[in-house]
Amino acid sequence: MARYTGPVCRLCRREGVKLYLKGDRCYSDKCSIGRRNYAPGQHGQNKKKLTNHGVQLREKQKVRKYYGVLEGQFAEYFNIASKMPGKTGDNLLSVLELRLDNVVYRLGFAASRAEARQLVVHGHFNVNGKKADIPSMILKVGDVISVKDSSKSSAKFKSIVENHKVTVAQWLQVEPDNFTGKIIAIPTKADIELPIEEHLIVEWYSK
Ligand code: SF4
Repeated sequence: MARYTGPVCRLCRREGVKLYLKGDRCYSDKCSIGRRNYAPGQHGQNKKKLTNHGVQLREKQKVRKYYGVLEGQFAEYFNIASKMPGKTGDNLLSVLELRLDNVVYRLGFAASRAEARQLVVHGHFNVNGKKADIPSMILKVGDVISVKDSSKSSAKFKSIVENHKVTVAQWLQVEPDNFTGKIIAIPTKADIELPIEEHLIVEWYSK
């Protein structure tokens, strides 16, 4: 399945919640959710009551879009989470947070997850000193993420780090001047700015 390339604010309006897909605009009064908080399209303002099935589907889609993950890959993450010790819903959120593109964004090295994904694919990052250009790579506690030396001096990186407004999560340690970050703990639901009812996703996949 191809990645969605249309207007991303529609995705937030569809889910009725901020998914933070557009960088700094999401934190400004230009955010579409603040101005038009109803689903896009001709019938967007006609609210229908969802079935249980519909509620579970919307929760899954919301989280999937937030992380910019395709259907098949999301199902694969659920599979991984279900085999880990502990609660599947909690594990799923931790696995999603530990994706390399998400970590890059959470460290403040990109203004959005989409930009982080692009920067990773273009080879601007190392993990533990080795080139890492796969956005879906799942990291672990102790991993060190750094911007490649040849990329550090670029105006783009300097401007991203100086200007954007993401608060660095507590499970990460960052040295912005060295363009380096480290994972110091497993991320949990409390670290995620999006309200998530992960039990609905578990119910969706458990049918
Ligand atoms: Fe658009 Fe960001 Fe607001 Fe979503 S949160 S509607 S992506 S500006």
